[in-house]
Amino acid sequence: MTKFDEALKAGKFVCSECQKCKKLVWPPNDYCNRCFGKVKWRPVSITGKLVEFSKRNEVFFCIAEFENQIRVMGSLESTIVPTIGQDLKLIKCGHNGNEEFVFQLNNS
Ligand SMILES: [Zn+2]
Repeated sequence: MTKFDEALKAGKFVCSECQKCKKLVWPPNDYCNRCFGKVKWRPVSITGKLVEFSKRNEVFFCIAEFENQIRVMGSLESTIVPTIGQDLKLIKCGHNGNEEFVFQLNNS
């Protein structure tokens, strides 16, 4: 299990940032994919935007983007049909064999 998965399991959404060149390393890794510097783990901003969504059995699934670089898939709790590009926030994350993310629209 990676450090990313471990944090997720504890309900924390983290990313890796290079200590040397300050690059946000995504997908998360212990070493920078540009300069091979060591990374430090830090929380990701929980406010993101909606990139894509689909609806299956009354449940919305979506791809959300955070800090303009980090894209994750999850479910979207919404009673209305969302719009691409809309602001959303992460309300829950976890790891149960698979990565789990739950989002909510940020306009209410
Ligand atoms: Zn680097």
